[in-house]
Amino acid sequence: MADSAESAQTRLDYIRTRMEKARRRFGSPPETVELVAVSKTFPAAAIEPFLEAGQRVFGENRVQEAKEKWPGLREKYPDLTLHLIGPLQSNKAREAVALFDVIETVDREKIAAALAAEMTRAGRRLPCFVQVNIGGEEQKAGVPVDEAVAFVRHCREVHGLDIVGLMCIPPEGRPAGPYFAHLAALGRAAQVSQLSMGMSGDFETAIAMGATHVRVGSALFGKR
Ligand SMILES: *Cc1c(COP(=O)(O)O)cnc(C)c1O
Repeated sequence: MADSAESAQTRLDYIRTRMEKARRRFGSPPETVELVAVSKTFPAAAIEPFLEAGQRVFGENRVQEAKEKWPGLREKYPDLTLHLIGPLQSNKAREAVALFDVIETVDREKIAAALAAEMTRAGRRLPCFVQVNIGGEEQKAGVPVDEAVAFVRHCREVHGLDIVGLMCIPPEGRPAGPYFAHLAALGRAAQVSQLSMGMSGDFETAIAMGATHVRVGSALFGKR
C-alpha cells in the first residue's frame, strides 16, 4: 500500500508539473486546468492511492462500472467529483444523475431531454458539457460541428441545462492541435467558458489551445 501510494503521488506530481508548464505557454492561460483522472477499467483498490494522494476529480465512461466502484469510495471521500465521459443512453439517465457530478457527453436531443427530466426529478442540477464530433467521424459520438452552437443554445433555452463547456475526442493518428483550436473557437461562439480536451498523449497540446479540463487515464493508472 505504501508503495502504490508513493507511485500515485509521483505520477500525479509529474502530470501536474507538465500541465502547469503547458498552461504558461498559452496566450492568456485559464486560471487553472482541472486534471480529470480517468479511472475506467481500474478497480477501487487502484484508485484509492490517488485519492490518498489528494486527487479529487475522476472520470468514468460507463454508468454500470461507476455504480460498482464509486459509491464506496465516495463514502470515504465525500468531496470527490465524478465526471461521466462516455456515451449515455437515455434509459441510464436516472442512474447517471444520481452517480455523477458532471456530465461531459450531452450530444443529442433525446439525452438532453432525459437528463433535464431526471435532474428536475432529483432536484440535482449538474453542470454539463456538449460533446462535439470535432473530426466529423462517422462512428464517433458528438454533435456535428456545424450544429454545435445551436445545440448548446437549445439545451439551455429549451431544457434549462447548465451547459458549461464543450468536450471532444479528436481523430486518432492525426495531429490534435487543429481540432483543439477548432473546439476552442466553437466554445467562444457558443459562449461557454470551459473546454474538456486532451488525453494522456496530447494533454499539453490541448492546454496550449485553451483546455480547462484534461482527461488523463493511462499516464496515471498505467496501461488498460
Ligand atoms: C479513456 C478516455 C480518456 C483517457 O485516455 P488516456 O489515453 O488513457 O489518457 C479520456 N477521455 C475519454 C472520453 C476516454 O474514454
